[in-house]
Amino acid sequence: MSIFTKIINGEIPSYKVAENDKFFAFLDINPNAKGHTLVVPKKEENKIFDLSKEEYLELMDFSYSVAKALKKAVPCKRIGMSVVGLEVPHVHVHLIPTSIMADMQFTKKEKLTNDEFIEIANTIAAHFN
Ligand code: 5GP
Repeated sequence: MSIFTKIINGEIPSYKVAENDKFFAFLDINPNAKGHTLVVPKKEENKIFDLSKEEYLELMDFSYSVAKALKKAVPCKRIGMSVVGLEVPHVHVHLIPTSIMADMQFTKKEKLTNDEFIEIANTIAAHFN
């Protein structure tokens, strides 16, 4: 079972942003930028292009709605999107509020307090529809 499946099941805590029957979105614990969100299919699949075309398009559709909420919630120039997966072998779309190129590089990291994580997650969730 992947660490993200444990998060989806509530066995490991997370700062939840959005959820439906197939997908779960939560804040990255080691964010590139404030509001950095991960969108994960509940079905545990390692690589994004091993999803069926239908599953892939549904993931993009859900990520679109999360990105819209994120843009409203967090001041930034744009929402960057990235899929890597070298660390956690469970498909996840990185949605990152981006203002400078370094926000999309996985070397610059933001330190946030528990209260800041909660506040950002709640603000994004409030804009999600
Ligand atoms: P990737 O697999 O695309 O290289 O990156 C995995 C991402 O998952 C990283 O940005 C990392 O900070 C995040 N991550 C790893 N473990 C956890 C966790 O337990 N909780 C949360 N919220 N994020 C995690």
